[in-house]
Formats: sequence, structure tokens, C-alpha cells
Amino acid sequence: MKIRDLLKNRQGPLFSFEFFPPKTAEGEEALFRTMAELKAFRPAFVSITYGAMGSTRERSVAWARRILALGLTPLAHLTVAGQSREEVEEVLGRFVESGVENLLALRGDPPQGERVFRPHPEGFRYAAELVALIRARYGEGVSVGGAAYPEGHPESESLQADLQHFKAKVEAGLDFAITQLFFNNAHYFGFLERARRMGIHIPILPGIMPITNYAQLRRFTEVCGASIPGPLLSQLERHQDDPKAILEIGVDHATRQVAELLEAGVEGVHFYTLNKSPATRMVLERLGFRPGA
Ligand SMILES: Cc1cc2nc3c(=O)[nH]c(=O)nc-3n(C[C@H](O)[C@H](O)[C@H](O)COP(=O)(O)OP(=O)(O)OC[C@H]3O[C@@H](n4cnc5c(N)ncnc54)[C@H](O)[C@@H]3O)c2cc1C
Repeated sequence: MKIRDLLKNRQGPLFSFEFFPPKTAEGEEALFRTMAELKAFRPAFVSITYGAMGSTRERSVAWARRILALGLTPLAHLTVAGQSREEVEEVLGRFVESGVENLLALRGDPPQGERVFRPHPEGFRYAAELVALIRARYGEGVSVGGAAYPEGHPESESLQADLQHFKAKVEAGLDFAITQLFFNNAHYFGFLERARRMGIHIPILPGIMPITNYAQLRRFTEVCGASIPGPLLSQLERHQDDPKAILEIGVDHATRQVAELLEAGVEGVHFYTLNKSPATRMVLERLGFRPGA
């Protein structure tokens, strides 16, 4: 199923879950369990990430195939960082030959410890170039998504410049976008309003990460630039050594975020699951969604 069509024909909001390809056999087993538990909530699609500089190429292709075999719709992430055009085209071909109909076209981050992105000498510089390549090769035969940044991409000089670049990416052929995680819905609503005013009308799905671990949260937000509201941050700091309390605070916050987004009529919500089911499950159940119902 193409996400473009799922969004067009939806009856109510869609849910989707993001996973990353595990490195170990135990991680793989755990991910199969997580997927089975979350499958019961009938996600519209599940996405599988693509490791920095192409590091998970084989595993990402293998997981996209497994997701299909589980009867779920995969969204395969694909980045251009650290790879030649030829290499990117080769993986793209393998995804599509495997039956993947949905691709999230991304640039990728600079290698760890580096702040400036340097394109591969024979590679692409921006995600928009990958979007154009996918469209040139497959036309409407696949559905293409891209990343959006409610608080601006960390490298962009201004929110306005970032939005202009986002618009160019949409015009290169995006059907939909998924946002970077955010903890204050005002950032999402503000971004959506600015995007609509600029004539961007594709669905922009909010990306929500229920917080489950304080140290991990600080690491992630440092890289992606998402801000943590002051009161939430002090609450987390006070309980940082109590995993149960952190889970409760994270689930409570995400539940309130998702409730408000649904109330505002979003097309869907994308959950960053970090390969674990409990927090996402708790959020959905607290909102009244039951597995298999
Ligand atoms: C939903 C989601 C999923 C992700 N999945 C992955 C993943 O699986 N693997 C992974 O490694 N990373 C992933 N990322 C992280 C992503 O790769 C990084 O955020 C990366 O730094 C930017 O990627 P992009 O596709 O947004 O890049 P782009 O859209 O190319 O933008 C990158 C920067 O360049 C600027 N820019 C764009 N076009 C121009 C132009 N023409 N001139 C000047 N400046 C320009 C933009 O404003 C921005 O600052 C994901 C991010 C999101 C939000």
C-alpha cells in the first residue's frame, strides 16, 4: 500500500511506528516481539531507519522484507550521507525490488563528532536530490516522504530559510512529511501554519517520542535540536534515577500531546518507539485505542 493512498482514503487518524534495525540476534528477537505487540494497534505503516553513512544497508533491506512478510506496510528510510550516487541507487533498487512502495528520502547527519555535513565526492548534498532521483526512476510507482523540522533543522540559518528548503523538497516530489520529535505542540502548529501559508499542502505527520530514559533524551535532543519545555525538564531532572517515574512522566506528556494533536485534526501520528512497545502502547491505550479493536 502506498502511504499517499492511505492518507487520501483514511477514515480517521493513522498511526505509524518507527523502528531501527538491531545489531544483535537478541535485539532482532526483541524487535519481532515489539512489532507483534504493536501490530495489534493496526498501524497504517511501520518505518525502518537507515543507519548513519549507510551502516545498516543490509539490515534495513532485510527488515523491510520482514515487515512485508509480517503483513505490515513498510516505509524504508534512505539517506545519501557518506555514499556515492551509485551506491544510493543500488540500495534504492533493492528496496523497490523487494516490494517496498514507500520511501523516506533523507540526507543523513554528519559522522559523530562532526558538525558540518560534507557530501560524498560522488554523492548528493540534499535530500531533495534523492526525492528527484526517486521520482525520475519510479514516477508515481512509489510514495515518497521527507523530514520536516518544527523547530528548524539545527544547521539552518533561520526558520524561514529552512522552510524555503523544505518547500523545494516538497516540490521535488514529496507526498508527505514526518516531523522531527518535539515536546511542545505549539512548535508543530506554528510550523504547519507557516507551511500552509507558503503553499505547502502535503500531510505533515507529527513525530512523537514518549520519553522513557532521561540520559537518552538529553543525548537525542542535543543532536536533533528539539527543545524540552522547562517544567517538563525539571520534573524529569528530579526523577532522573527512577526509571518508573520517568516512564510515567514520559507517557503522561506524550498522551497529552497526542490527544491535543488528534483534537486539532492531524492526519496521523508517527511514534518513535526506540524498538520498545510499552510506552507507545500505554499512550494509545490511555487515549482509548485498544489492541485489535
Ligand atoms: C522523520 C525523520 C526520520 C529520520 N530518519 C533517519 C534515518 O533513518 N537515518 C539517518 O541517518 N537520519 C535520519 N533522520 C535524521 C536526518 O537525516 C537529519 O536530520 C539530517 O541532518 C537532515 O536530513 P534531511 O533529510 O532533513 O536533509 P535536507 O532536507 O537535505 O536538509 C538538510 C539541511 O540542509 C538545508 N538545505 C536543504 N536544501 C538546501 C539548499 N538547496 N540550499 C541550502 N541549504 C539547504 C536544510 O535547511 C537543512 O538545514 C531522520 C529525521 C527525521 C525527521
